[in-house]
Amino acid sequence: MAHYDYDLIVIGGGSGGVRAARIAGGYGKKVALCEADKLGGTCVIRGCVPKKLMVYAASYEKMFKAAEAFGWDISAKFDFKTLQDNKDREIKRLNKIYHGLIENAGVDLYPNHASFVDQHTVKVGDKTITGEHIIIATGGTPQMPDMPGIEYVINSNQALDLETLPKSMVIYGGGYIAVEFAGIFNTLGVDVKLVYRGPQLLRGFDDDVAQFAQQSFIDSGIEVITETNFVAIEKTTQGYQCITENGEAINTDCVFFATGRSPNTQGLNLGKIGIETHHNGRIKVNDRQSTSVPHIYAVGDVSNVDQLTPVAIKEGNLLVDRLFKGSDRLMEYDNIPSTVFSMPEIGRCGLTEAEACEQYKQVKCYTSKFRAMKYAMSEVQEKTFMKIIVCEDSDQVLGMHVVGTDAGEMIQGFAVAIKQGLTRTQLQKTIGIHPTSAEELVTL
Ligand code: NDP
Repeated sequence: MAHYDYDLIVIGGGSGGVRAARIAGGYGKKVALCEADKLGGTCVIRGCVPKKLMVYAASYEKMFKAAEAFGWDISAKFDFKTLQDNKDREIKRLNKIYHGLIENAGVDLYPNHASFVDQHTVKVGDKTITGEHIIIATGGTPQMPDMPGIEYVINSNQALDLETLPKSMVIYGGGYIAVEFAGIFNTLGVDVKLVYRGPQLLRGFDDDVAQFAQQSFIDSGIEVITETNFVAIEKTTQGYQCITENGEAINTDCVFFATGRSPNTQGLNLGKIGIETHHNGRIKVNDRQSTSVPHIYAVGDVSNVDQLTPVAIKEGNLLVDRLFKGSDRLMEYDNIPSTVFSMPEIGRCGLTEAEACEQYKQVKCYTSKFRAMKYAMSEVQEKTFMKIIVCEDSDQVLGMHVVGTDAGEMIQGFAVAIKQGLTRTQLQKTIGIHPTSAEELVTL
């Protein structure tokens, strides 16, 4: 029997890696965790958590507006520095909790970059350690198209850490990050232009949802410019100019690209030990998270199309349960719910109408559009949109989509039922809670 320093080495201390390491440690296994940066990864340090805190900050604006109609006389002043200081303090607190979790599970932390020496050996800083099993959980990083002036552009990491709010901002991209930050900065008083290369934001979302959301963003004051490609960014005496392929220039104080994320595999020496990747750099894994080297696994954004924290956590947890607890449970990728924390929010679970029509013969959609009671008396004009997509033969709800306040909270609850095969009849048998927005979903 070969002897290794560790039962498990985990490379990457984000959501997936930390979960895998601490659960394996809790099972009494000898575990090493390699992380050169702060523990917590994209989600805690430079993604979901700080972003959501900024979304909360921005969401007060609408509440203050609506409050007047309910008799409140509020004179509100916003201080960006207070938000940023408190946000940074909260991230430090969470980072400390992550350290505690790792320590309590008896995991050895190696605070350096790791790279493979051979299929069981990892070099981390000036140390070399061996492991029976190795998990790669190195996540992803913002990717930028190559163009002149790209050095003037900020990405989502830097957008979270701005010291002052610019007067104006151009955000390039039409996916999750672009629309979320457009909502945050627009609401906090920045003049936001959201520029996208395609005809409609949020490609891959249900068409009605994307259309409704785009119109809501426009109504909220964001200038949405579609079918526009940038070819260069130039610095001017006033700020920056984004040059389009038609030779037009858009002036702004700050240029932010949210043009997707690429997997963090550089410097790992994957090629040397025979680990295969897809054309976009993501690590190829099978349904047991094994790479092309069976005892080396990958979880989370480094291998996933669904770049979502709970997916990485679940993959890491299930993998460790299979390795050390005799479990045979596999990750299920159907009906993963998600929410775009734009303003308004977009919650989704299951198929879009287009996807449903590709897979099923008879598909029927039910929609509703209304102004939430919360805003009915106020000057807030925001509307809510709901859509369910049903297979007519089986009556099964194939997809559920909500655009509006608390969409994520609603979809999380309904996702439990959708995952169990919810039918429209079951939805209709359910009594609504009145008066709520969510009750509309059981009457569609
Ligand atoms: P997305 O893939 O969601 O969006 C990337 C956008 O950039 C698309 O609109 C894409 O256009 C555009 N784009 C890509 N390459 C170029 C290019 N070369 N030139 C111009 N435009 C380009 O990525 P994000 O960066 O927004 O987010 C990454 C992932 O992180 C998401 O897909 C999601 O899985 C996850 N995430 C989840 C969140 C949540 O759950 N709330 C929040 C934030 C991120 P096109 O559509 O034409 O390809």
